[in-house]
Amino acid sequence: MNKRTFLQLGAAAGLESWLRRLAAWGVTMPERLHNWAGNIEYSTENLYAAKTFEEAREYVKKTEKLKVLGTRHCFNTIADSKVAFLSLTEMHDDPVLDAEARTVTVDANMTYGKLAPWLEAKGFALHNLASLPHISVAGAISTGTHGSGEKNGSLATVVRGLQLLTAGGEVVEFSREKGGPFFHGAVVGLGALGAVTKVTLEVQPTYQVRQWVYQNMPLEAVRAHFNEIQASGYSVSLFTDWRNKNVNEVWIKDRVSGGKEFAANPELFGGKLATKNLHPIASLSAENCTEQMGVPGPWYERLPHFKMGFMPSAGKELQSEFFVPRKAAVEAIFAVERLHEKISPHLLITEIRTIAADQLWMSPAYQQDAVTIHFTWQQDWPAVKALLPEIERVLAPFGARPHWGKLFTMAPAELRARYQKLPEFVGLARKLDPQGKFRNEFLNANIFAD
Ligand SMILES: Cc1cc2nc3c(=O)[nH]c(=O)nc-3n(C[C@H](O)[C@H](O)[C@H](O)COP(=O)(O)OP(=O)(O)OC[C@H]3O[C@@H](n4cnc5c(N)ncnc54)[C@H](O)[C@@H]3O)c2cc1C
Repeated sequence: MNKRTFLQLGAAAGLESWLRRLAAWGVTMPERLHNWAGNIEYSTENLYAAKTFEEAREYVKKTEKLKVLGTRHCFNTIADSKVAFLSLTEMHDDPVLDAEARTVTVDANMTYGKLAPWLEAKGFALHNLASLPHISVAGAISTGTHGSGEKNGSLATVVRGLQLLTAGGEVVEFSREKGGPFFHGAVVGLGALGAVTKVTLEVQPTYQVRQWVYQNMPLEAVRAHFNEIQASGYSVSLFTDWRNKNVNEVWIKDRVSGGKEFAANPELFGGKLATKNLHPIASLSAENCTEQMGVPGPWYERLPHFKMGFMPSAGKELQSEFFVPRKAAVEAIFAVERLHEKISPHLLITEIRTIAADQLWMSPAYQQDAVTIHFTWQQDWPAVKALLPEIERVLAPFGARPHWGKLFTMAPAELRARYQKLPEFVGLARKLDPQGKFRNEFLNANIFAD
């Protein structure tokens, strides 16, 4: 029984007041294993943390059913297990840089926050980062995690190779260079193919980035100038609470190249250049956020919105996000805007980003440049659960695909129909994991339809 169920049952039996009294006396119930946001308590506490590859292999071999847990930042049950978890967070091999091939090979559980300064010290960088550096490389690529920038693919698009521990304890290597039919199926693997133990990522010479924030751009400017706004920087994010037909903040991150760079004029399509650092939710302290105001800094201290070592985003929140084809961006944004009276009361902030198309079978940007419409919600699941079908309904004409790690309510059959390569992915999963050792309820419902 999880804590919430216990509390509900306890309330019915008059136990709640007892629990409150116990809490007042300083007696607390032990915290159960949960995700970052605390909205999911996992269905088992049975977690094994392997310290070596051999320990991981033995555990996978002998365990009947399990899921690999990363840094637990997903908002839905994609990472959940009723039986057992394998954690790789105790594995700490140093990254291996191949400067000539321009690759780095890392432990799958390594966070971008640890990898980035290590790479920087060696003079190298990644092409992009998500809004936060706190997440693991394997968890991020497995779910198609992305940053922004119309020419930037998701974080999975710089994967050059993967080492996968399969259900039977065999090691399978996937490599972009060596080809093979399954590389494009294995990278955004949703945790369904096995335990990713090493990831090889493409790197490039280090670079500096500057970021600026504009406030209060009229939403109509998005209708008239969406393409120009997105093209103005290397990575661009629009933040709106959908109130007053206003874009609260536009974040522009541009590379310091010495060539044509973003000219930070006092005004951008009606938005005004901010005169101090801001949080995407303007009422929150910008202390947690990366430096703005055009101050140059290393790529990894500007591309994420939030600093390592600080709480990203708001903390007590829920998240949802939908990928729609870039060519329908304006239509999709205004379709959501028409729901503003229903959305705004439950919302902390929306972020709109662009992502370049890729060839990864289960990537929500598969073969289409995408715009993503993201919602950071107040932590009120009944309200969000009631609203999501309405958002999904207005985005259905665009074939919207939900983020794999965030909350959605779309019917599994509809979701599956939006992935052209799903049959091939299911075939790959059945080949690598015939008994479904790495499957859970989320995967059975949304991918395997059984
Ligand atoms: C505050 C916040 C901000 C966020 N910002 C962004 C953003 O900017 N862009 C974006 O796209 N997403 C964003 N996300 C979502 C997040 O990046 C993804 O949910 C990502 O999957 C988190 O990685 P993780 O390691 O925490 O994964 P987990 O939640 O631990 O696991 C996710 C999935 O990956 C699998 N997995 C993890 N490790 C392995 C492994 N070694 N082998 C096999 N499978 C594995 C799990 O089994 C599970 O299926 C954000 C989330 C939060 C909480």
